[in-house]
Amino acid sequence: MSTGTTEITPMLQSFLSSPRKILIDGKWGNTLSEHTFPTFNPATGDVLCQVPDGQKEDIDRAVKAARHAFEQGPWRTLTPSERGKRLWRLADLMEQRTEEFAQLESLDNGKPVTVARGADVPLAIDLFRYMAGWATKIEGNTIPISVPYAPGAQFHAYTLREPIGVVGQIIPWNFPLLMATWKLGPALAAGCTIVLKPAEETPLSALLLGELACEAGFPDGVLNIVTGFGETAGAALAAHPDVDKIAFTGSTEVGRSIVHAAAGNLKKVTLELGGKSPMLVLPDADLASAIPGVFNATFFNTGQCCGTGTRLYVESRIFDHVLAGLADQAKQIKLGSGMEPTTDMGPLISENQHQRVLGYMESGLKEGAQAIVGGHRYGDTGYFVEPTVLVNTAQHMKVVQEEIFGPVLCAEPFIDLEEALEKANNSMYGLTAAVWTKDVSQAHRIASRLRAGLVWINCHNIVLDAALPFGGYKQSGWGREMGHEAIDLYTEVKAVCAQL
Ligand code: NAP
Ligand code: MG
Repeated sequence: MSTGTTEITPMLQSFLSSPRKILIDGKWGNTLSEHTFPTFNPATGDVLCQVPDGQKEDIDRAVKAARHAFEQGPWRTLTPSERGKRLWRLADLMEQRTEEFAQLESLDNGKPVTVARGADVPLAIDLFRYMAGWATKIEGNTIPISVPYAPGAQFHAYTLREPIGVVGQIIPWNFPLLMATWKLGPALAAGCTIVLKPAEETPLSALLLGELACEAGFPDGVLNIVTGFGETAGAALAAHPDVDKIAFTGSTEVGRSIVHAAAGNLKKVTLELGGKSPMLVLPDADLASAIPGVFNATFFNTGQCCGTGTRLYVESRIFDHVLAGLADQAKQIKLGSGMEPTTDMGPLISENQHQRVLGYMESGLKEGAQAIVGGHRYGDTGYFVEPTVLVNTAQHMKVVQEEIFGPVLCAEPFIDLEEALEKANNSMYGLTAAVWTKDVSQAHRIASRLRAGLVWINCHNIVLDAALPFGGYKQSGWGREMGHEAIDLYTEVKAVCAQL
């Protein structure tokens, strides 16, 4: 099979032509109902293959396997060094399959294969290697204590950092492999066991990753993968009474339902949710880097990033110049199948998202915004939309307040920096923000005023490094992914106090 001009590797052809299974307790099998659902190529709408439609009872079997592996399996007794080695081995195995992973991401998600090869896959590999290093560095403290009612007594008090237990992980479709690794890496390094539910739209790379995890030597039941839908498999995982923590990435709305579902057994929850990230361009900015920077911030991954820069505030004297630069670049962008090596921007993920993004464009235009470029569907097959820049937007508009998750930028000029900062922070979200200026002191002052979990200065989308903690203020989430912060969130602290 060939799609565009990238030839699908024989290994991947055989992966796609055999029916996919779910992974429970180290074995690949069917769901109890044996029902399946199709996953599509969003560039064409064609079915790629069928995957199992996991239900509550399959989640239950997977949680039981994870519980058994946590309490009684060999995972508990492996040294931290052995855990780290398996993570490193998994990274090595992935590296050997870089091309398969890149093509699978492109076919299932629509993103350019060149981007998957250059970013998604190497970043995922790096994440596992970074977390492999942490496995041997999860430490407690010794604590000198003072006990007023035990004069003369001596104590030895210390803390242990222990794995949190059985973890449910629910991930979205925008970076299918990378989102799986952000979740799996720290959980495995910490010694947890896992039930992973990939997104219904993009289940394939997680299944290939599961095959390599078996090969890398993770004991049975440590990693279980159940494909299925959010309302069934996802909801069952979030509500399961024997799951100790749920880690979720996706929409803020579903994040709220996860919190409700988790309340039953008060499981720990971390959430990586939506964003509506602002970007500020000051008059002294180096426009030769700011214009392509803003452009990339908005249109990378077809705007389907939680950290996508979607609100642009440019000092009024340079507004027209910056906007003309953005429009110029947008006109040159090449849309097409991700498997075409020359494609710059792929389709949106699904018919649903296509309708949703087109609906937002229409609502913006109806409310008085003007598209200086784009504003329409592109082509008549697949889920493409034109890269779009809207001006004459105002704070009350839906396009300015709500997460669009598509290639749509709302740009406004500003005169007063205070007013621009106020607008930048005027959002229920607080995931990322960016500022372009040559004034270093000013840049750091602005960084401290922006209410966001990650602020970029003179750059954007430098987010995906495994060492940099990522997560949101306000309704963009709870907790952080990556960095040592992620390890902390997969461990419990146990205090031990001994009288000597
Ligand atoms: P979503 O519904 O939040 O889906 C994310 C994950 O949660 C998927 O695995 C989904 O399963 C699952 N899920 C859905 N309902 C659930 C429930 N009640 N209980 C447990 N799990 C559930 O996101 P979406 O529908 O794919 O996209 C909608 C919007 O979410 C986007 O337009 C965007 O605004 C936002 N989003 C944000 C991110 C991010 O990185 N922050 C990523 C993707 C989407 P299914 O596969 O069946 O949907
Ligand atoms: Mg798909």
